[in-house]
Amino acid sequence: MSFSTFVTDKDGLQKLYEAIISKHETYAPVEKFGKYDYKKVSSLKECDPDSPIAMTMSVKPLFFPRASKIMKYEATSAGTSIHETGQDQLSGPRVILGVKHCDARGLQVLEAVNKWDYIDSDFLNRRANTVIFSKRCDKADTQCFCTSLDYDLENLDALDVAVVSGPGGKVYLQARTEKGENFLKENLGKESAAGSQQALDEMKKQYEAFAASFRLKMDYKDVNEKMSKRFDSTAYEEATRNCVSCNTCAFICPTCHCFKISDEKIKDTGVRYKSYDSCNNVYFTLEAGGHNPRPAKYRRWRQRSMHKFVYYKERFGVNLCVGCGHCAISCPVNISIFEVVNHVAAAPMEV
Ligand code: SF4
Ligand code: SF4
Repeated sequence: MSFSTFVTDKDGLQKLYEAIISKHETYAPVEKFGKYDYKKVSSLKECDPDSPIAMTMSVKPLFFPRASKIMKYEATSAGTSIHETGQDQLSGPRVILGVKHCDARGLQVLEAVNKWDYIDSDFLNRRANTVIFSKRCDKADTQCFCTSLDYDLENLDALDVAVVSGPGGKVYLQARTEKGENFLKENLGKESAAGSQQALDEMKKQYEAFAASFRLKMDYKDVNEKMSKRFDSTAYEEATRNCVSCNTCAFICPTCHCFKISDEKIKDTGVRYKSYDSCNNVYFTLEAGGHNPRPAKYRRWRQRSMHKFVYYKERFGVNLCVGCGHCAISCPVNISIFEVVNHVAAAPMEV
């Protein structure tokens, strides 16, 4: 099925965003302490759908929250009673503005594991009820490598509506899913004329200029293959020696999905939480008997890298990395997964 392309200008886009915010529950990047995080907004002035790539946190927490209450309970000598935590606040119809293409792809990648052996209906419902507006970047940031991975960034269908800059202040709006097509037709003003072949050509040129702006490039197939043959390489230890196991890289990542279940109980009343965790965490694989199969950080880093570039690809056919570069930007000791996996791939084979 082919979808429609519309053309407007910067004012038209602003008006469309304002109309969306006035009519729909809308989330968009909101600045706080110099970083942008997705929040529910009631006016365009509160947010910046064109927020800078490097300073914008992932949209993942709107689908997989950082910490959520999954159960409340009371445990007394008379027995234990369990209470629901209330309605899911993230499952209703909503629109998200300003999602980066790599971040939208992260949600698509995560769908595979969320409908695998356990069906996570919370994640899937949130995604089904969300319309994603995604502005295609005009220029790559220093740590971006999204064009080097296994997805068609130019025609990405992980988002519902692509917003693309054209020459002379033009802005193109292209539906990428049926949901996006219906949403645009219902919400566009009369000023938005249907796009033509010229529009498609100009969007292509924008993509080519964007793709030419990348500093980081890799051959992911080569990395997949070489990593699968270098499990015992000392290159992991060399590349990750400075890691302080803070887990920031996992918490910020659009595709990491490790979590822990913890209870907080005061007297007879308790709450059970599901919160982010990381395979970089020294306690992540610690067993009740005291044995830890990954006691050294290079082994934990190997697990993280192999999961992203070998195991997930083998099981679900896609890399568990979308090349957003946020882990490198946020790491307190400047470790980059791009450098780690390329260092391992370039290392000699262990004999
Ligand atoms: S953010 Fe850096 S220091 Fe922290 S766990 Fe990740 S690689 Fe290690
Ligand atoms: S591993 Fe790093 S570059 Fe890859 S998706 Fe996660 S945060 Fe982005």
